[in-house]
Amino acid sequence: MQHSVLTEAEQHWAWADLGRCRDIPDLFYNGEDEAKATRRRKEAAAKKLCGRCPVIDECLRHATVNRELYGVWGGMTEAERHRQAGRLRTG
Ligand code: SF4
Repeated sequence: MQHSVLTEAEQHWAWADLGRCRDIPDLFYNGEDEAKATRRRKEAAAKKLCGRCPVIDECLRHATVNRELYGVWGGMTEAERHRQAGRLRTG
């Protein structure tokens, strides 16, 4: 019998394989040149998917612990995470 041994990086990201955004990452990040209305529409759609994601808690924990600056993680936009952390938005 063979056992696969996960590397530290694979363990760190194991939860992400179950994420609903796995095959549509573009929806979760805004382009610099995107209009505000487009950003808001994409963020709303991304948050809707997060709401039905089985790893939403792990994802938000990851984003908070690692201070992810950009994109929607765990059902929160970057602006919402910055506000929650008491930081000014930099991006
Ligand atoms: S909570 Fe949202 S951003 Fe996180 S893995 Fe799930 S779908 Fe992706």
